[in-house]
Amino acid sequence: MPEVIQHYIQGRIVESTSGRTGEVYNPAIGEVIRRVAFASAAEVRQAVESARDAFPAWAAQPPIRRARVMFKMKQLLEDNIDELARLMTEEHGKTVEDAKGSIARGIDVVEFACGMPHLLKGEFTEQVGTGVDSFSIRQPLGVCVGITPFNFPAMIPLWMSPIALACGNTFVLKPSEKDPSLSLRLAELYQKAGLPDGAFNVIQGDKVAVNALLVDPDVAAISFVGATATAEYIYHTGCAHNKRVQALGGAKNHMVIMPDADMGQVSDAIMGAAYGSAGERCMAISVAVAVGDQVADDLIARLMPRVRALKVGPGNDPESEMGPLVTKEHYDKVMGYIDKGVEEGAELVLDGRNIKLQGYENGYFMGGSIFDRVTTDMSIYTDEIFGPVLSVVRAPDYGAAVDIVNGHEYGNGAAIFTRDGDAARNFANNIKIGMVGINVPIPVPVAYYSFGGWKRSLFGDHHMHGAEGVRFYTKLKTITSRWPTGIREGAEYVMPVLG
Ligand code: NAD
Repeated sequence: MPEVIQHYIQGRIVESTSGRTGEVYNPAIGEVIRRVAFASAAEVRQAVESARDAFPAWAAQPPIRRARVMFKMKQLLEDNIDELARLMTEEHGKTVEDAKGSIARGIDVVEFACGMPHLLKGEFTEQVGTGVDSFSIRQPLGVCVGITPFNFPAMIPLWMSPIALACGNTFVLKPSEKDPSLSLRLAELYQKAGLPDGAFNVIQGDKVAVNALLVDPDVAAISFVGATATAEYIYHTGCAHNKRVQALGGAKNHMVIMPDADMGQVSDAIMGAAYGSAGERCMAISVAVAVGDQVADDLIARLMPRVRALKVGPGNDPESEMGPLVTKEHYDKVMGYIDKGVEEGAELVLDGRNIKLQGYENGYFMGGSIFDRVTTDMSIYTDEIFGPVLSVVRAPDYGAAVDIVNGHEYGNGAAIFTRDGDAARNFANNIKIGMVGINVPIPVPVAYYSFGGWKRSLFGDHHMHGAEGVRFYTKLKTITSRWPTGIREGAEYVMPVLG
């Protein structure tokens, strides 16, 4: 019997009694290596109650003590990064070095949360009226929930939980059922770092668990990252149950390449941005918008030999540049899109479909593909493929390129490659996208800035981590105070005008 990944409630592993489980694959070999418990609504309730009961004492801790837990957590994550990365590779497929990079970006958020005593400082104004002072404070919300996708099983829980916890909230994580093991390691490390029992809980499962979390009366806020259809559902259902919700969805990220761009830099940038992590990144570049036919022809000529030479292999082989896709279902979906692109009339100039690796015949490996002459009505353009497939769209000029980017329903990231400062500035100001790169292909903001898209890439008002994260996980209280020496005698019946 393979091991079953269980829940983590009240500081310990809790065995599920729901009778439902899912399969966890190693995508490099295409075999089930573990199973994962699927929680019942009653088990979800148990996790939420554990977080609810831990909240008052944790919220009452001085911020510096909560920050000290984050300092220890940062150290523990660094000490264990190799083992965590190997575990991620085993269930997700990405290369170990890429896995390490993603954990390092998560550690950056833990480091940001170490500064919470400073970040939680409010404002104070003396003498807003005669003898009257005003101040504002930010207080935690209560039980916060994180529902996370398969593609970053450590980084995305770490975009959310360190800030939520350092602000004084308690947390319930519902990780992706495709690669659930990392969530338990995070829980163990938080406990080792000194987090009290019940402050960080993990509930494993599928939509049964999610649905129970969305309507639980003791859940105050929900942070979600995943596909747009799920994000939209989570946002509307959570809001209908009076919860604060931030729900980040899918993406189709464009790179606009101007005729004056350094084409050597462009092809280097596209190789990593389109094919890194097999394209399973919400900030992956999946569309290259070439301004002018000459740029498009040059780009394709440069990319073809490099994409053909990509070293596809198991993520635990240090030689591999691109690992397998996460599941057979996802592999079939990406293959289906390549078939569709051909049917729709795009030119498949490089076909990554027929890859077989000796010793890994059942793995979900795919080579890199390139489509040329993609038009905006094709499904390979409109839909998020989430695989190693690059679409080249030809635009006659800069204005047409901007219209293409702005016309897409998603608005996560976009980049422009150019030497022209005017074009770059115009792009930054006018593009309807949440995260913009100027000669930077994947403009993921650092931990002390905030991550989030526009349009159908984000539902809600707050981006994740940075100052927006602190705002999302706290509510504002403003206090107006007067002490006896400032109090005038007699009742006042008119609206007081201070100052
Ligand atoms: P997904 O939406 O299938 O799953 C995400 C989470 O939602 C999982 O925990 C899953 O169990 C749960 N879920 C799935 N279907 C559900 C349903 N019908 N009802 C309730 N819960 C449900 O996403 P995924 O395939 O794990 O991740 C890939 C997607 O995530 C891509 O679209 C990618 O762009 C997106 N993503 C976005 C960002 C971002 O920052 N915008 C970051 C990473 C990934």
